[in-house]
Formats: sequence, C-alpha cells, structure tokens
Amino acid sequence: RPAVLVWFGFSSSFPTCWAAGTQCVAKGDHRKPKPGELVYHKGDILTIVDTSTRKGYYKARHNNTGEEGLINSSGVREREALRVDPSLSLMPWFHGKISGPEAVSKLQPAEDGLFLVRESIRHPGDYVLCVSVAGEVIHYRVIYQDNKLTIDNAQYFYNLIDMIEFYSNNKGSIATTLLKPKQKHGTKSAELELSKTGWLLDITKLTLGKNIGEGEFGAVYEGEYMGQRVAVKTIKCDVTAQAFLQETTVMTKLQHKNLVRLLGVILHKGLHIVTELMSKGNLVNFLRTRGRSVVNSDQLLRFALDVCDGMEYLESKKLVHRDLAARNVLLSDDNVAKISDFGLTKVDSKASDNAKLPVKWTAPEALKKEKFSTKSDVWSYGVLLWEIFSYGRQPYPKMSLNEVKERVEGGYRMEAPEDCPPGVYALMRICWEQDPRRRPAFHKLREKLERDMGKLSPRHESLRQDGIRSGSGC
Ligand code: ADP
Repeated sequence: RPAVLVWFGFSSSFPTCWAAGTQCVAKGDHRKPKPGELVYHKGDILTIVDTSTRKGYYKARHNNTGEEGLINSSGVREREALRVDPSLSLMPWFHGKISGPEAVSKLQPAEDGLFLVRESIRHPGDYVLCVSVAGEVIHYRVIYQDNKLTIDNAQYFYNLIDMIEFYSNNKGSIATTLLKPKQKHGTKSAELELSKTGWLLDITKLTLGKNIGEGEFGAVYEGEYMGQRVAVKTIKCDVTAQAFLQETTVMTKLQHKNLVRLLGVILHKGLHIVTELMSKGNLVNFLRTRGRSVVNSDQLLRFALDVCDGMEYLESKKLVHRDLAARNVLLSDDNVAKISDFGLTKVDSKASDNAKLPVKWTAPEALKKEKFSTKSDVWSYGVLLWEIFSYGRQPYPKMSLNEVKERVEGGYRMEAPEDCPPGVYALMRICWEQDPRRRPAFHKLREKLERDMGKLSPRHESLRQDGIRSGSGC
C-alpha cells in the first residue's frame, strides 16, 4: 500500500483570502451589529457567500439562521480540517469479540443507560447489546437475519449505527434508552470530533430530493441544505461508512475550485456525505449525451485544463488520486469541471483488491507493482484527455482488460481520437511514457496545455480569465 499522506494544519492560519463557500467558525460573540452586519455567537458556523465587499469584510450566511450580512474577517476563523486519525470511530461503543463477563467489567461503575456492543462468541455473526440498568448489566442478543439486525423481531435495522441511534431515542423493548456509550479504549468518537470541528451537519436542515446517481456503496441524492443545493451520498453499511470516514477527513483539508467541495457529513442510519451539487452530472455522460454538435473544442480544452488545475493542487499536497477518470469528474451549472472521489479512492487499495482496479486508466507500474504516485495519476490523466476528446468513448474500444494489460505493457498506445488537436494528442503520449519519471508533472502539463490552448484557440485567453474571475477569487 503506497504511503498515506501526512497532513499539517494549513487552513486555519492562512491569511484571510476566502473563496465563496468557505465555512468559518465565529471566534466570539457579535451581538451588536452595525447596519448590514450579521449577528452571531461564539462557535456559530458562517458560510462566505460574497468576497467582493470592503477590504477585511465578507458577506456571509449564518448556517443556522440562514440570515445574510457582512462579517469582519478578524472575528472568524476558517473551519478547521479534521486530522486524519485511525482511532476516529463511528462506533466507539463497539468492542468487538469480548466475553459477557468482560463486558460487565467494562460497564463499571454502574450507571443507568451506560452501554456497549460486542460480537457474540457463541453465535458468530450476531451481536450483543449490553446495557447497565439499576446496578445490573442486561445482555440483549442482536440477531442478524435477512441482512437486517433485530433484538425483538419487531424493530429491524440496517446496521448497528442505525440500531444505537434508535435505542438512544426510544426505549422500544429494552429496559432503558441508551444514554452513554462506553467507549472502546483507544477510540475517539467521530461524532464528537466532527461536531467540535464544525463538520457535522444538522439533518433537520436537510431536504432530500430525487435520486441522481448510484455509487458503488449507496445512492446519491439531490437536496437542499440551508438554501444551498447539495448532493448527498448515502452509505448504509457500517463497515464501509467507517472506511469512508477516514477518507472524508482527507476531504476536509482540501479546497480548490476544481475539486468537488465537501460541505459536511450527517450521521443518520449510517453516513451521509454532503457535497456541493454538480448539476450537470459526470463528464462522460455529459459528453456522450451532447456530442460534437453541442460541445466545441474550446470547451473540451477548458474541461481538460480544469481537471489539470485540480490535479496540480492535489499534486502540491502530495495526494494521489488513483481513480482519475472522466466518470469521476463532475460538472457544475456553469460548466466548471471538478474532480470528485479524491478522498474516497484509497478505501480499497490492498493487493487483494487488484481485481477492482480500473485497468484501462491505471499505469502499468501501478497495475503490476502497486506503485501508485502522482505520475501514475498523470497516466490516468492522459486516458482522461483521450476520453474528453473522443466525447466520452470507452478507452481501448473493443479490447478486453487482459489484452489492454498485455499490449500496453508491450508498448501499444491508443491512437488520437477523431479530430483531436495534434498538440493535445502529444500531451496524451507523454502522459503514457512507460517510465513514470519521463511523464510530466501536472504543473508542467498545465503550462503546456495553456500554451497549446493559446495556439489552438484565440478565444482561450478570454475564456480563461472568465474562469479565473468566477473561480476562487484568490
Ligand atoms: P461511486 O464513486 O461510489 O461510484 P460517485 O460518487 O461517483 O459514486 O457517484 C455516482 C454518481 O452520482 C456520479 O457519477 C454522478 O452522476 C452522481 N453524483 C455524485 N456526486 C455528485 C454531485 N456532487 N453532484 C451531482 N451528481 C453527483
């Protein structure tokens, strides 16, 4: 498994140059606003909505009241990123395989509603909910049947998180509501950490709309959160949710106009990941359904440059994507391409998961020796360029995965898509150098792309400036 990143808190101490959408936390109370200013209290979360105001001021929306007004940047700090911490757990009350007597000793001193969950030793696959009530510990067997969990054959749950949430709010058929989790030694409650850092969103402020996509681990819905259109990815399986949590913490540290922005998470029946809504969906579907008659080559170049900008940012943070492909690029209302799934792709990266690798996008050294690096991302970027300029065709058309592996290893490379500008095809070819060291870095690719764009399209400069103006503003 390639090195996982080490992060340093860089976001909170950065001088104030915040893009619209940045979430800030109030450092203190601001109860007596001047005209046009926003009222807030210490700890409130505010979203920057407009950066083009007076120096030192931003227009912001209060995340709880929805009110908008001016704020002085010195009164707030940017919402902190979460530390990547393997002890962060969505299920800190889950103690794994421990015996009944061990559970009883962990629930001392007795306290009504103190609880933990353990795996049943006698009935593998089942769980036991242990709760302290009136000085005693009661053990409820949780039966796993038909993909659901139940204690009383009346209430059924998708997963343990769901079950604990229910019995924390309802007594149901157990002796007491669950009041206090007994945390497993060495774990930290993700809920608490997310809430302290301001990344835990409030489910009552979320309105879910229609289903807009199917992810590998759950459905994606359109929705609205405090007046903002959002996308909500739902992950029901608790083990997967736990794995995604780690990756979500990576996303809290990344902010760039060409990366899909994480707004926060909701813990309810599993994990809901809330991101900005990319209303035009993924790039492959967009290109396939519009085609040449609607999307011109200027626009294709813009997409290519957007993705390159986003990758240059990831490269600067020493983050490897591993699944860069047009299906993982999403488009906003105003046709800005943004990379998605950048925090999530490292969930399954063990050797045993090799079968899951996107072969047609993966560099030979990554396929063979699991050598993932920014340079293997550059290879994938070359394939993505090919997808863009072929209007969303499947790469290596008509070739099987084994054939692709063998022939690419032997030096075979795809031909240029129809009508592809030669400069762009030349870029693809250098991305597909066999030796990763010979492939350009993303910042070099961007320079080349911009140079080529200047040559290819005289309108490019104005397009680019428009892009910058509507971008981060920093
Ligand atoms: P997975 O990586 O698990 O396959 P994705 O995150 O790619 O799932 O989501 C599946 C589909 O849902 C995407 O191809 C896209 O069409 C849609 N989708 C995902 N996130 C968003 C978003 N932020 N805005 C709009 N559509 C989205």
